[in-house]
Amino acid sequence: MQAMVLDKPGGEFAFREMPKPVPAVGEALIRVHACGVCRTDLHVVDGDIRDGRYPIVPGHQIVGTVEAVNGVETLEPGMRVGVPWLGYTCGACSYCRNATENLCDAAEFTGYQRHGGYAEYTVADARYCFALPEGFSDLDAAPLLCAGLIGYRALSKAGDARRLGFYGFGNAAHILTQLAAWQGREVFAFTRDGDAVGQAFARSLGAVWAGGSSERPETELDAAVVFAPVGDLVPVALKHLRKGGVVVCAGIHMSDIPAFPYADLWGERRIVSVANLTRRDGEEFLAVVGKAGVRTEVSRFPLESTSAALNELRAGRITGAAVVEIGW
Ligand SMILES: [Zn+2]
Ligand SMILES: [Zn+2]
Repeated sequence: MQAMVLDKPGGEFAFREMPKPVPAVGEALIRVHACGVCRTDLHVVDGDIRDGRYPIVPGHQIVGTVEAVNGVETLEPGMRVGVPWLGYTCGACSYCRNATENLCDAAEFTGYQRHGGYAEYTVADARYCFALPEGFSDLDAAPLLCAGLIGYRALSKAGDARRLGFYGFGNAAHILTQLAAWQGREVFAFTRDGDAVGQAFARSLGAVWAGGSSERPETELDAAVVFAPVGDLVPVALKHLRKGGVVVCAGIHMSDIPAFPYADLWGERRIVSVANLTRRDGEEFLAVVGKAGVRTEVSRFPLESTSAALNELRAGRITGAAVVEIGW
């Protein structure tokens, strides 16, 4: 089969021939139709995070059809499934036993320790294959699997915050703005300064306010979610919070957070990170996303142009989500 393979962190990322994978017991063989591009793929390819198993096929927002299963009763050939970033957990550690499998000590991640979706076929642990909502094409469903899903976990960390700031208006924020607006929240979208196109896009999806990240909104925020991998934004977001508010850092990798006055944290303000996802997050999010009328905005790239898609994302030139389409 054809696949995009990364030899080592920061190494060559190339389109090449690979053996078609064979599912082990408990796994499904999946014929891939689409795989969403995530900022985490950039961190993997660029070597910002280096705990993968190499060589690796990246890609962790996989939409495909089950072609075969091995010792699995929950899936059968012909079913459409989605495979997210969390690809395996042990089921036995204290995190797994306490509803925080996202923190599992022995977790494996799709497109990082397990081969991912920038390939014609992949295998996945059947426990981590989600049924996908109808009404989303394969391409449109792909960004739900990380941008949507981990965005949803980040939104949960904001509790019932009504006034919500989103820093970095890409993949995740374009989905979560629609969901948050449907929930009756007010979204304040912070883009790069001067990004009028991004700000108009945010307003078109239901944001009540959009501006540059150095701007101060006219009201205090109950919570802020920082999607951009830019540590400088954390103290900026903190300054706009009401007492008791929370800044949620949604990315797997972020540049260092600069020092800030303790007074800005005082008043029981909090800074938290979001790690990965649980199956429960996936089930909740995928059940509500259709009801909320969420639509994804997708730019498609063929498999052999995956590097170009990553370069466009790195340069901030993708509106909404980039998705790699595997042509069959
Ligand atoms: Zn575990
Ligand atoms: Zn991701």
